[in-house]
Order: sequence, then C-alpha cells, then structure tokens
Amino acid sequence: MEVEAVRCECCGFTEECTPEYIAAVRAEYMGRWVCGLCAEAVGDEIRRAGARGQRAITTAEALDRHGAFAREAPRAPGKKASEELVAAVSRLLRRCLDSPPASPAAPQGRKVAAGPRCTDAEDA
Ligand SMILES: [Zn+2]
Repeated sequence: MEVEAVRCECCGFTEECTPEYIAAVRAEYMGRWVCGLCAEAVGDEIRRAGARGQRAITTAEALDRHGAFAREAPRAPGKKASEELVAAVSRLLRRCLDSPPASPAAPQGRKVAAGPRCTDAEDA
C-alpha cells in the first residue's frame, strides 16, 4: 500500500498515511493536516465550547486553540513526542470529564473514528 509521511501541524507527530486519507483530512481541516489524536482534541474543543454555552467556534479556531495547547505542553526530557501528546490529550480529556455535564455525553465509539486508515509511526 502506498503511504506518505505527513506531519501533524499541531503537535509535529509524523504519521504514514495513504494519500487519500491525507487529502480527506486536509479537506476537513482547512488544508492543514492533523493526526488522529489532535483531530479528536480539536473536536473536543468544539464540543466543549458548545457545552459551556459560548458561541460555537469554527474548526479553524479549534485548530488554533489546540495547536497552541499542544505547543505549550511541557516537554519532559527523554520522552517521545507521541508519548507527550498522549499525556496531554489524557489531561485534556480528564479536564473535560471533570467539568459539569452540560451536554449529553459524546457517542461511544467516536474516539476510534479519527484515523482508522493511519499507520502510526510509533516504531519508525
Ligand atoms: Zn497531532
């Protein structure tokens, strides 16, 4: 299967994906490419903004917010970026769970929908 290495514009994580998948993600995120974890976090930003009763934020705004969050996440020496990102997203999700349930919970199974055709570069 033909794959291309593509770098997440939020966290810098590199994944190897099919050109079709890369194009689909770029189409959804204003020409930017984001990894599955960041795509999930961006969706979470949008949902949380709605849950707090604020005006809806656009995908572009959510990308900017998450990108800033990912870049500011503390970097622990000796850890790979992907591990840091997993920790950062775990914190984000915990923070979300700690907040009052202002909206119905996200449907189960959404989390695995972000990048099913991606082969992550964990072992590269
Ligand atoms: Zn990312």
